[in-house]
Amino acid sequence: MLEVNALAVAYGAIEAVQDVGFTVEEGQIACLVGTNGAGKTTTLRTISGLLRPHRGEIRFRGRPIHHLPAHTVLALGIAHCPEGRRLFTGMTVEENLMLGGHLRRDGEVTKDMNRVYELFPVLGERRTQRAGLFSGGEQQMLAIGRSMMARPKLLMFDEPTMGLSPIMSQRILGAIALLRDQGTTILMVEQNALAALTLADRGYVIDLGRTTLSGPGRELLADPRVRAAYLG
Ligand code: ATP
Repeated sequence: MLEVNALAVAYGAIEAVQDVGFTVEEGQIACLVGTNGAGKTTTLRTISGLLRPHRGEIRFRGRPIHHLPAHTVLALGIAHCPEGRRLFTGMTVEENLMLGGHLRRDGEVTKDMNRVYELFPVLGERRTQRAGLFSGGEQQMLAIGRSMMARPKLLMFDEPTMGLSPIMSQRILGAIALLRDQGTTILMVEQNALAALTLADRGYVIDLGRTTLSGPGRELLADPRVRAAYLG
């Protein structure tokens, strides 16, 4: 579904991504793991059309997309659930979800809102409350729900468990697995390499702006180099 080839992205003179390549197969969860500053967030933001690469290419369903603006990438079916959630905290649950569906013209927005409430019942119970009143885990649920509202084919998550308790992290990762099982393809960046690679159909290690290792998630988990670098 997604192919990233020899990607390079710079902030001024700093080349944050130097040679990143990976593929995401339809119906699977692919995960990028790596230390802080490895270039994972930069890679996701480039796929979303928020940054431009100066080398390499990104193809979505065979079509080059690395020159397209962010709203076109979203309309093609790629949604991004960003690091730090970026909710509108003064707005209600319902209003945040409506914003996630702002490009939709198909009259099924209410149906998808109900799908979010089925996945996360607490959001349905508190749909008229402001997002800023929610706990970190509940806000992450809302951020996931908002990105579901675009009805994406490919959903990208940047650090979805950051700052959450182990129990809440498991709930969030469980919801992501359920989305995959219901047919949404997933690309995830996660610092918790153990949890991420356990879940991922395919994993990629990004180190200093380059893809250095790849394989099925559970195979990478068993790799001594991954164990030494990321699992202690
Ligand atoms: P983290 O897990 O800490 O978010 P990451 O793997 O997602 O790490 P990036 O956020 O993509 O890494 O950062 C890659 C490199 O680019 C880092 O050296 C970072 O300092 C640098 N960088 C990121 N954003 C900017 C920016 N807006 N301007 C300049 N340099 C940046």
